[in-house]
Amino acid sequence: MTPFAYARARQVDEALALRAGHPEARFIAGGTNLLDLMKENVARPGMLIDITGLPLHDVETTADGGLRIGALVSNADLAYHPEVERRYPLLAQAILAGASPQLRNMASTGGNLLQRTRCYYFYDAGVPCNKREPGSGCPARDGLNRIHAILGASDQCIAVHPSDMCVALAALEATVEVAGPAGRRVIDFADFHRLPGDQPQRDNTLEDDELIVAITLPARGFARHHAYLKVRDRASYAFALVSVAAALEREADGRIAEARLALGGVAHKPWRDPRAEDLLRGQPCNAESFGRAADALLQGAQGFAHNDFKIELARRAIVRALEQAASQEGTP
Ligand SMILES: Cc1cc2nc3c(=O)[nH]c(=O)nc-3n(C[C@H](O)[C@H](O)[C@H](O)COP(=O)(O)OP(=O)(O)OC[C@H]3O[C@@H](n4cnc5c(N)ncnc54)[C@H](O)[C@@H]3O)c2cc1C
Repeated sequence: MTPFAYARARQVDEALALRAGHPEARFIAGGTNLLDLMKENVARPGMLIDITGLPLHDVETTADGGLRIGALVSNADLAYHPEVERRYPLLAQAILAGASPQLRNMASTGGNLLQRTRCYYFYDAGVPCNKREPGSGCPARDGLNRIHAILGASDQCIAVHPSDMCVALAALEATVEVAGPAGRRVIDFADFHRLPGDQPQRDNTLEDDELIVAITLPARGFARHHAYLKVRDRASYAFALVSVAAALEREADGRIAEARLALGGVAHKPWRDPRAEDLLRGQPCNAESFGRAADALLQGAQGFAHNDFKIELARRAIVRALEQAASQEGTP
């Protein structure tokens, strides 16, 4: 590990000022991803700015009935928060499908959004990788790509975003509140993570000198009909090969009034296409309408040999998650 300086910030402005004065610095929250990357020599920050003392640990109801989650709320505290369990069980389910209890105790909400890909080549500092070293190449395209993207990949990068929590946040249409030298701004979740294009080194639209301060959920939580389905190699402590966040609201006659669908493990960002959701509106809950939505969401899917199986796997997982969401009767 490369030597680094360490500083602790107590206020958001203090953290931003430290960052502005030290371009080589990185914020550290739970450290569950950043420290691994430093040990592997993938990240070499000259300074760590510890943000765990910032006042960003609260979960509060917003004026319009939503929920504002401080960036430093741990994944465990969020999953077991009574308002999340009651009103946003899809989010609780997705968080609890990830990592392990110990990791969820340390991992923060903001850090979860910014965790980096699990691509083997990205983690191996001894081989080329356009995400780690722009312009060096992408060995994954013709190499071992079982865990890689089937949607939205580019010539330069076929890595996927590994988060479970973010798939639920995408389906729930969360927003991300960030603070930077120019003040605060709010980013729609759909615009937060990005596709690799010709800048695979950029995972998201956060600027280097900006800090995530909160995530806000709108009032609508789809508590009654939801499912988070995660398909992985082991039943626990493994990243998703494919995951699906499905949420429905149903009319009195059983037809679909509103639908949300997002996929994890298949692209450089949580994958959502409102056109697939539009196809579900007004339809009965059955295999035909679910299958049509799955086909729409997977339009243009392409494998790279070892991950070809993910296309059919994703289709089946979408249909099953929608079936589970439709049949489930949660607390409204
Ligand atoms: C073995 C293992 C298994 C895992 N399994 C899963 C899984 O199945 N599903 C899943 O979703 N996740 C999984 N994870 C990932 C885990 O959820 C993330 O590592 C964690 O959420 C990151 O949060 P953190 O607070 O520890 O971030 P850190 O490691 O502290 O930071 C990560 C990045 O975010 C930046 N950062 C942190 N907070 C902020 C902020 N507020 N503003 C700006 N920048 C910030 C840091 O500078 C760094 O670049 C696993 C991790 C491990 C080690």
